[in-house]
Amino acid sequence: MSYPDYHTHTSRCGHAVGNPLQYVEVALAKRLSGIGIADHIPLLPEPDPEIAMGLCELGDYVAEVTSLKARFPGYVLLGAEADYRPGTIAEVRELLAEHPFDYVIGSVHHLGTWGIDDERQIEEYSGRDIDDVYSEYFELVGDAAESGAFDIMGHLDLAKKFGYRPSRSLATEMETLVARVARAGVLVEINTAGLRKPVREAYPSVTLLGLLREYRVPITFGSDAHKPEEVGADFDRAAALARTAGYSEYTALVESGTVARARTVIRALDPRGE
Ligand code: ZN
Ligand code: FE
Ligand code: FE
Repeated sequence: MSYPDYHTHTSRCGHAVGNPLQYVEVALAKRLSGIGIADHIPLLPEPDPEIAMGLCELGDYVAEVTSLKARFPGYVLLGAEADYRPGTIAEVRELLAEHPFDYVIGSVHHLGTWGIDDERQIEEYSGRDIDDVYSEYFELVGDAAESGAFDIMGHLDLAKKFGYRPSRSLATEMETLVARVARAGVLVEINTAGLRKPVREAYPSVTLLGLLREYRVPITFGSDAHKPEEVGADFDRAAALARTAGYSEYTALVESGTVARARTVIRALDPRGE
């Protein structure tokens, strides 16, 4: 049995394919120990149908995943991936409070109005100081962690997605981020989607992960699947990365049985391989 996958999308977000049941079926077929559906909840302040579901779809999304939870008790969780953008956090909090999410992944995708992982806006990198892009990104992720709105921090170093690398180590910026994340008491995911992107590397890097380990930050696994067949993708490599960084444990989520967010349970990483 393999690790649970807490980061999966569905066709509702406008740039993924498949319905929640199809994702659950792949998780079962791959013998994952659980799956959370965590689609992009509506983007604020302005909606974007290619980035996230519309406001009118959120209720249907919650109902659909909730019915899967009843059909596969203890196996499926209702999650969400929510954007952290300064200025919208109060509204995001309200939106999240309206539904019984088991967990919420907090992700930074924007520096101001620029969607840094958006292929439609990739040219923006050539006009930017890449060191600044990274440090601004890390600062926002720290702000997101401290907001208290999220349970898991998504793709901690997404700025590397297209292969743009900083000119220096950014060790100070990274340590500041990790200290903030540790103090906030949030989980951090090992997200294997980076392996499928130009950077060909999971988020976060082994350097960041080593720091997270030093600060005792617990980890989860997420494929960031945008197709059902990507569920659980490269989890053997993610576990190997975790072990390389010094981890021997990961965190699983268990439904609390109330409207509160899921409980966390510490589980051992397989010491050999997957
Ligand atoms: Zn997406
Ligand atoms: Fe994301
Ligand atoms: Fe995602």
